[in-house]
Amino acid sequence: MPECTLRPSPISPTVDFSADGVQHGFLRLPYSRDDSAWGSVMIPVTVVKNGEGPTALLTGGNHGDEYEGPIALFDLARTLKAENVTGRVIIVPAMNYSAFLSGTRTSPIDKGNMNRSFPGAPDGTVTQKIADYFQRTLLPLADIVLDFHSGGKTLDFLPFCAAHILPDKVQEAKAFDLVRAFGAPWSMKMLEIDAVGMYDTAAEDMGKIFITTELGGGGTATAKSAAIAKTGVANVLKAAGLLKGTAAAAQTTWLDMPDGNCFSFAEDGGLIEFFFDLGDDVKSGDIVARIYPVGRTGAQPLEVKAKMSGILTARHFPGLVKSGDCVSVLATVIG
Ligand SMILES: [Zn+2]
Repeated sequence: MPECTLRPSPISPTVDFSADGVQHGFLRLPYSRDDSAWGSVMIPVTVVKNGEGPTALLTGGNHGDEYEGPIALFDLARTLKAENVTGRVIIVPAMNYSAFLSGTRTSPIDKGNMNRSFPGAPDGTVTQKIADYFQRTLLPLADIVLDFHSGGKTLDFLPFCAAHILPDKVQEAKAFDLVRAFGAPWSMKMLEIDAVGMYDTAAEDMGKIFITTELGGGGTATAKSAAIAKTGVANVLKAAGLLKGTAAAAQTTWLDMPDGNCFSFAEDGGLIEFFFDLGDDVKSGDIVARIYPVGRTGAQPLEVKAKMSGILTARHFPGLVKSGDCVSVLATVIG
C-alpha cells in the first residue's frame, strides 16, 4: 500500500484552542473569487477554556437554513464565562458559514451539503475543506459533540434531541444520557436514511459522544424552539460537568424510528394536503396526506398512506411537493 498523506488544512484559526479564557475569533478559509482576489471565508468561532476537563464541540448551521442552533450558540458564545466552565467549550454557531449567510441548506459556493461531505478533503471544495478541518482538527479535540439541526425550509419537526443506535453500547448509553439531559419535549432513537458522509457518523466512528437535534423547521425558529435549544445546550454542558449548575429536570417522551417504514416519500409532485399535524397519532394505513395534481381540475389526488402506526414527527413544509420529497416521518412512542 502506498503511504497516503493528506496535505495540511488550508484553514487557519485566529484562536488558540489550548489557551485559558474566552476567545472570539475565526476559522479563516482562503477563498479566492471575483469580488475578493485573496479573500477568505471567515467562520466565527468561540473557545472558552478553564483548566483541565472535557471538551465539548458545539455546532449550528451545518445546514444554512436551520436557526435554533445558531440562535442558541451565538447567545452562548457572548454570555459564557470562563470561570463557570471546567474544561473547554468550542462553539461554531454556523458551521457551513456561506450556506448560513445565504439562508440555504447547502453552500452557494459549491452546492456542498456539509452533512454529506465527511470526511472532507483539504484540497477539495470550500465545503469539503471545512469538513476536513472538523474531521482532522476539531473532532479529535472533543469528548462530546452537539450538532444542532432543524427541518430547514422543506421540513418541519416535533422538537427533539437525538442519538443513534451504535455498535458500542457504552458509547450509545452515554449519548442517550446526554439526550435525556438536553431535556427537549421529545427524545429520539434516530435512524438515518443514509448515514454516509454525515458529521454524525464521523464523530461516532471516532468514539465521540455525539448528540444532535431536530427542533422545528420551515426556515425559521419560533420563540419556543429557540428556548428549547438554549436550555438544552446549557443542560448538556451541566450534565457533562463542563458548566457549573445542575441540569434542569425536564419531562421528555422517548420516540423510536424502528425501520425504513417510518419514512414516506412523494411519488409525484403537486399540492399537498395533510390530514394530521405534528404530534398527532397515526395508524398504519391511514391517509397521511393527499397530493393533488395541479395541471388541471378533475384529476384524482395521490394518497400517501402510513406504513406503520406512530406519532407524526416530521412533515414536508411548504405547500407544494415534488416527486421524491420526504412527505412524513412517523415514530413510535417508547416511553
Ligand atoms: Zn440539518
